[in-house]
Amino acid sequence: MVNQSSADWIHCDIMDGVFVPNISFGLPVVEHVKKIAEKPLDVHLMIIDPDRYLSRFHEVGANILTVQYEACVHLQRTVTEIRRLGMKAGVAINPHTPVALLVNTLPFIDMVLIMTVNPGFGGQSFIPECYGKIRELRSIIEKGGYNVLIEADGGIDISNAAKLVGTGVNVLVAGHSIFSSANPSETISKLKTLS
Ligand code: ZN
Repeated sequence: MVNQSSADWIHCDIMDGVFVPNISFGLPVVEHVKKIAEKPLDVHLMIIDPDRYLSRFHEVGANILTVQYEACVHLQRTVTEIRRLGMKAGVAINPHTPVALLVNTLPFIDMVLIMTVNPGFGGQSFIPECYGKIRELRSIIEKGGYNVLIEADGGIDISNAAKLVGTGVNVLVAGHSIFSSANPSETISKLKTLS
C-alpha cells in the first residue's frame, strides 16, 4: 500500500526501551522492509549511544539516518560519520529541547526533526507549542542560508498538516492518523494535498 501511495519516504521509528519507554523493532526488520520498499527509508533512531549502530543501519538500507540530540555526546562527530557512510544526516529534538542548541550543527546536517510529541508511543496528541519552535528554526535556517529540511513527527493528521507546512515544515511524518484511517492510501493523498 505504501509503495503504491503518494508517500515520499518510509519512516522507521527505532526505539530501544532505554532512551524511550517503549521497544519497537531493530535492524532485522529494517532489512526486511528494505527488500520490498520502493521508497527511501527515513530511519529515526530513538536509542542511546547511536554511534554503535550507524554503519549497521547503513548496511541494512537506511537512506536518511536521524539521531536524537539528547542521546549524542559528540553530535558533530556522529552526523559527520552518518554522511561519510553515504546517508543523509538528521538530528531530532524532543519537545523540551530548544532549537537554538542546533545552531552550530546546521552546517553539518541535512534535516532537523522536531518531535511534536514526547517520543515513545504512536497515537499521542500533537503539542501545539511546537509551532513556535518550527517558526524559530525556519528563521535560523533562512538567515544562515543552510540547506536543511525541517521534519515534524508526532500527532500529525489532516487537522494540523497544512498549518505545519505553512509554519515551515518540509517533511510530515504520520503513522497513527494514516494506519487507523478507513482508507490509508487516501489519507496519505489528503495529507499531501493539504500540505
Ligand atoms: Zn519518528
